[in-house]
Formats: sequence, C-alpha cells, structure tokens
Amino acid sequence: MCNPGSKSYEMDGFSKEFFQDLFSPAQGGAPSQAVKDELKELYQKACDNNNLTQPVNDFFLRLTKIKKEQKLTPEDLGFSLEALTELAGAYAEMEEHGVTVGGRLAQARKVALSANQRVKDYLEQKGELAPSGIELWGQIQENMARIKKTLNITEEEWNSFSGQLRHAIDSVETLSKVIDLPEAAIKDVLRVTETYRMRLTPYYASLIQPGKINDPILIQSVPTAEMVDNVGEEIPPVASDHSPARLIDQFYPRVVTIKATNMCAMYCTHCLRLAHIGKKDRIYATEAYEEALDYIRENPAVRDVLITGGDAFMLPNKNLRWLLERLDEIDHLKMKRLGTRIPVTSPQRVDQELLDILEESNDKKPVRVVTQINTAQEITPVSKDAFHRINKKVSAVLNQAVLLKGINDHQFKMWKLCETIQEADVRPYYIFNCSYRNPQFMHLRVPVEKGRDIVESMYGNISGDAIPRYIATAGGKVPLHRSNVVEQTGAKITLRKPWSGEQVSYPDPEPGEYAEDAAFAFRKYYA
Ligand SMILES: *Cc1c(COP(=O)(O)O)cnc(C)c1O
Ligand code: SF4
Repeated sequence: MCNPGSKSYEMDGFSKEFFQDLFSPAQGGAPSQAVKDELKELYQKACDNNNLTQPVNDFFLRLTKIKKEQKLTPEDLGFSLEALTELAGAYAEMEEHGVTVGGRLAQARKVALSANQRVKDYLEQKGELAPSGIELWGQIQENMARIKKTLNITEEEWNSFSGQLRHAIDSVETLSKVIDLPEAAIKDVLRVTETYRMRLTPYYASLIQPGKINDPILIQSVPTAEMVDNVGEEIPPVASDHSPARLIDQFYPRVVTIKATNMCAMYCTHCLRLAHIGKKDRIYATEAYEEALDYIRENPAVRDVLITGGDAFMLPNKNLRWLLERLDEIDHLKMKRLGTRIPVTSPQRVDQELLDILEESNDKKPVRVVTQINTAQEITPVSKDAFHRINKKVSAVLNQAVLLKGINDHQFKMWKLCETIQEADVRPYYIFNCSYRNPQFMHLRVPVEKGRDIVESMYGNISGDAIPRYIATAGGKVPLHRSNVVEQTGAKITLRKPWSGEQVSYPDPEPGEYAEDAAFAFRKYYA
C-alpha cells in the first residue's frame, strides 16, 4: 500500500484539515527510540495490509494521540507529508464508499462517540430504573408460585383465561392475602371499592414486585384513597355526546368505535372509561350489535372501525368471530382494530381459536390489535409470546400508552417501554396525556410540557419506529408535539434538533413554487 510518489492524491476537506492539525509545528523535543520503533511498526502494518482499513486507522490514531500528548509531529517521528498522503490516498481508494482517513477519524468517529454519550446514562440506568418483566422473570415466577398456592389455583386454571377470571382478585380480603400492604392502605382500598371496582387477574398481580413501594403495576391496578378523595368535578364522558348510535362513538368521518363490551380482565386505576365500565359486567343483546352495524352499513364514509370496550378480547371467541364476519361483509368498511389490554393483563386468553379468528378476518381486510402497555414491567416472556403469536396473524400490533405519574413519567422509563415493546412485536403508536376529566385519577396526571420533553428526548436516540406520537384526548386526539420550527422567513426555515437543541436551516419551496400549476407533471400532456 505504501509507495510514496507513485500517485498523486487530492485530499478531501476533512483529510486536509486532519493533516494540517497533525503536521502543524509543535515543540515536543526529540522522540524516544521506543516511540519511533512503535510507530515504524504500525506504519509497516498499515502498508503491508492491502485490504484492511483498521491498521491504517490504528497508525493515524496513534499519531494523533502522540501529537496531542507529546507534542510530536509525524515529521519528528520520521514520516514525510508525501508518505502519509500516499497512505491516505490508498485508504480512500480501498474504502467502498470513498470514506477518507480525515473523514472517518476526525469527523465520523466524533459523531458516533457523542451519540454514544447521549445514551450512556440510559444504558447504565435502564435495568434498575425500569426493569422489564423479562428481567424480573425470576421474581415473577416466585410470585406466581406463591399466589397459586395461597389462592388454591391449579396449574391448569392458571394457564387458562377462564381460570384467571375465576380467580380474579376483586376484594380486599383476597388482595391482602397475596400482596403485603400496610393496614392504612388496606382500609382505603376497602373504602374505594365501595364505589369503584377493583379486579386484578392473578397473573397481573404476580407482576407486582413485593416490597416495592409504588410499584408501577400496583399503582395501575390497586386503587388508593385519592380515587374517592380527590376534589373536582367529573366531566361527563365524551361518549354521551358523541354516540350517534347504540354502542357507537364517532368523532371522525372515517373511523368509528364500537364499545362492544363493558368488561375488562383487569380494571385500571387511570381508566378513562370508568363510566362505561360501570359497576357490573353486562352482556349486550344481539339487537345492540345489529343497531351498531346498521349505523356503519348506512354510513359509506366510515372505512375503519375500532372495536373497544371495555376490552375487545373479553368477547367470547364465538361473538368476536360473528362481529368480525358481519363487519367484513360491509363493502365500504376496509379496516378493523381491536382494542385490548388482555395480552398484558391475562395473556392466557390468546388461544389458537382466537388466533384463527384474527387470521381469517385479517385475510379479508386488515386487522390491527391496539393494546395498552405502560411499563416495560408488563412485558414478560408470557405476554411477549402472546404478542408474537398475535402479530403473525394480524397486520399490526400497536400500543397506546398513558403517561402516568410514578409509572412512566421519566425519559428512560419511556425509552425502555418503547424499546421493550418493539422487541415484543408491538409498535409504539400513541402516548396519551392522562385525561383531565376525572378527579378520580387527577393524582396520576403529568404536565403536557413534561410529556413533550419525554417524547422529544426519543428522537435521535432510539429507533425511529419505536417513537410514539404524544396526544391529548380533547374531544378527538390532538397532537402535542412542540413545533420544531424555530422560525420561518419566506422559504427560510430554521429547525431545531430535539435531541441536541442544534439549529439547522431547512429551505422550504420558494413562495410561488408550490402554487397550482396548470402544466404540473403529467397534466401538461393533457393540455
Ligand atoms: C381514538 C378514537 C378513534 C381512533 O383514532 P385514531 O387517531 O385513528 O387512532 C376513533 N374514534 C374515537 C371515538 C376514538 O376515541
Ligand atoms: S383496560 Fe382500558 S377500558 Fe379496561 S380498565 Fe383499563 S383503561 Fe379502562
């Protein structure tokens, strides 16, 4: 590779600058023989290799270090500008993408290093701060064994959805058998459950880390005094003024929801649908579904339907198949979504028959499953497997997380959530700011600004397709992203990179350029 004077090499800007720094005069005195020998050997290695870039990198990096620490130039060490230019030329020629020594060592490596720096704290803290259910699996299995024994649940019952529901924890007495809570907390749960329902599947209860105050699973499933003591007026659910037909909610022209059940396997303390869920499980009459279907049949603008509740997977397989089949018969309806948290709260529900139903319907028109996962802790090997199997049968599995105080209101917790669910075949879709409508969970709300900071902190730091949109539910879903447009004058836009604050210019089309043009593209052929 080293053949000084054989060819001339015109350096790129990065390499020129790199060489200028390297060769600029310095007062290092005379180098030691050892250093000279070391460099000679590195140079020889770089020369001997004609298909490896690393030895050349090593040589130049060592030179850079010596220049910085010992104030010695390559010339002090016996290397001429010509010889090193030749080496740099051979390097650029060998490199598939024409990357130069200067570009790689002085530019690209710096960018990569500073990128690594941005996630350093995250990598160090994510295990402790936001452990996933996979990382906690040992502990969770111990909890499972303990709960099975205490509540007399057989292995077979544990592994079936009906068993999970039959043994659901819905009273303080049962709860206090499986979770160690202070007396005062138990008293309050008793007081709250006079008004609101509590229900945890034994599986979901096993995700709670014993001894952890404010465990994020515990806060989501076991109500505290705030739920009845918070002051403030409950604003009636949007549904009552957005329900144009039985079971239907509609804000948008192209999407409607069918509230197909009021049941959930587990009741969340932050539930926006508190009022729908009511005080007891209800089975809806066939006529109710028929009236909802009629509304869709009669509205050709509707192309997407969201089957929700409650929880869509609470519908027995037979009813779910029936409903999907009826929907698939409607020509103008093109897509279906199923809103369910059950793969997280009771993944045992995901049986072969359900998977077949999803696949059959998805073969006709796309099915998406929309779930709600709020912490990495909710992803265990069991729920991950359930999502993996669902994902193979439907066109997408999406997550709608709720931003909740003490649960996921931290950059790293949210990054961890989004990465963990992505690894479980679930795509982050929305993060909802927790609703202002219910005093019952006012204590779990997080300011909009904080949520923005959390979501924006993801850009440039985690995979782009693991980044959800941040939404307020305010009579429809309103995106809350802070505008990254710092300013605009005419076609001159200044953008701000959310991850560094750095500003970059981004030219817009010139005024007038975008205007309606009679001769635009193919139109001109039809003049
Ligand atoms: C959330 C919701 C939808 C779906 O909104 P997307 O932004 O399409 O996910 C549709 N209708 C109602 C009533 C909703 O609450
Ligand atoms: S799963 Fe959804 S509807 Fe059911 S309690 Fe939780 S938030 Fe409410």
